[in-house]
Order: sequence, then C-alpha cells, then structure tokens
Amino acid sequence: MSGQPDTVCLLIAEARRRFAEAELADPSTDARVLVAGVLGLSLSDVVMRGDAAVSHEEAEQVRVAITRRCKHEPVHRILGHRAFYGLDLRLSPETLEPRPDTEILVDCVLPHLKRMIAEKGSARLLDLGVGTGAIALALLKECPQARAVGSDISEEALSTAERNAYINGVAERFETVRSAWFANIKGRFDIIVSNPPYIPTGVVAELDPEVRDYDPFAALDGGQDGLDAYRALSTGAGNFLQTNGLVVVEIGYDQKKSVTALFENAGFSLLEAHRDYGGNDRVLLFTTRNC
Ligand code: GLN
Repeated sequence: MSGQPDTVCLLIAEARRRFAEAELADPSTDARVLVAGVLGLSLSDVVMRGDAAVSHEEAEQVRVAITRRCKHEPVHRILGHRAFYGLDLRLSPETLEPRPDTEILVDCVLPHLKRMIAEKGSARLLDLGVGTGAIALALLKECPQARAVGSDISEEALSTAERNAYINGVAERFETVRSAWFANIKGRFDIIVSNPPYIPTGVVAELDPEVRDYDPFAALDGGQDGLDAYRALSTGAGNFLQTNGLVVVEIGYDQKKSVTALFENAGFSLLEAHRDYGGNDRVLLFTTRNC
C-alpha cells in the first residue's frame, strides 16, 4: 500500500478482500481472527485499536499469513494454536485441529466424571489417540481430582499433548504412552475416551482442502468403511475398564448404528447418544452394565 502506513483496520480489509477473491467460506471472520492473531491482539483490541499503525515487519508477517490462508491453510494452523473448552492448545502437523463439536464430548463426559469423583474421591481417564490432548486436558482442567493417560501412535502428537498439558497447568496429572490403540496400555480406567479417525478412506479425498490437506491423514482415515478404530476400541476396552466404567467415543454423522452394533457385540450397552451443533449424531457413551 503506497506511502500510507498500514493500520489494523486496513490490513483486515485487505485480508477480507483477498479471502473473498480466493472464495473462502467466511472471509470476514477469517480476516479478523487471522490479523488479530498474527499481531497478538484480542478481537476487542481490534475494535478499540483499529486505527493503530502497524510496523512494516508486522505488516509483512500479516501478508505472509494472508497468502497462506488464500491457499486454504486453516487460520489456527497458521497461528499455531487454538482455543478449545477454555484451553489454549498448540497444534502440530501430526495433530488433528480440535473442533467445536468435540467440546460436546467433553460436556457429555463431565457429569459422569464428577459423579465418579464424588463417589470415590478420584478417577482415572484414558484418551486413545490423544492428538493435541484436547479431550483429556479439558477434563483434567475441569476436574482437579482426575488423572489421565493420553496415548497416540505419533511421538510428535505426544510431545504436543505434553506441552499443552504444561501450558494449561495440568501436567502433573497427565502422562503419555506411545501406543497403537491398547497395544502398550497398562492398568484399568474409569472412563476411556476417544475421537478416533472415522472417515472412510475413499471419502478423505473429498473433504474440504482445509481438512484434507492440513489435518493428518492418520487422524482422519478410519479404513475402508471408516470403522477400523471402533473395532479395535470395542474389542479391547473391556480389558482396561473398571467395573461400571464408561467408553465415550466421537463418531461420524452416519455411524451411530454401526458403532453401537460393534460395541454391543463386545458386551457393551449404549447409555447415551448426543448430537452435534449441526444436529448430527456425534457422541456415544457405552457401559458394561446391563441397562
Ligand atoms: N470431525 C472431523 C471432520 O469432520 C474428523 C475427525 C475424525 O475423523 N475423528 O473432518
């Protein structure tokens, strides 16, 4: 922009225009969140200090970020972190970006976790395929008497989850284990949670570029019918649960029936099913109790 100093507002307007040209779904929100994030401002700072001049170096950083977003890299991947259930979570190339819909899983687990803690003073969780740590760390933050093990097949995901545990003040109650599902897991847990890969392999290529090109394939690909992870979870979980323990899983929008059938075959009963913000089936709770 010739001669004129860049301001926060001018950079947001520039971002919005370039995102609209790139045909992104929500140019206005992306422009505000990305520009504010790169400049280290809150969204209310942006309103209050929109006319503030931005240095040449900072404006350059903003323009590099705008160009990345125009190539469909998600805003929070560019910023390197995002909010989830009141936590600030670092992302890495080997972790799925946590979704608002997964906060519903946390909401579904919380009353059960609190009840268990009220009954026996503490509770132990296992988060299989922990990724950034989103689910386990949100539950630890809400329940100071809980402890959690997070497992993942990716060493880099485990380092990211450990870093996030530290940043969010729950590191002393969180440990990690490198494991393909239950392979290296030891002991028994009150609640096993997982947001496993559940997209059928052939469908991954049809996802939005933001997901297909930037979320790790291993965190999306659920095998030919999308159900591979639920086969491993349903057949293994019984050996790692306390009496009256729970298994809570996120599922794809059309998987309630098939995932329930897998768990029923393994001796579990469906206790609760919850929908996401879009009205799709998204979270299932199973118990070993007959109910
Ligand atoms: N919910 C993610 C999506 O819509 C998929 C996450 C997963 O497979 N666990 O792309």
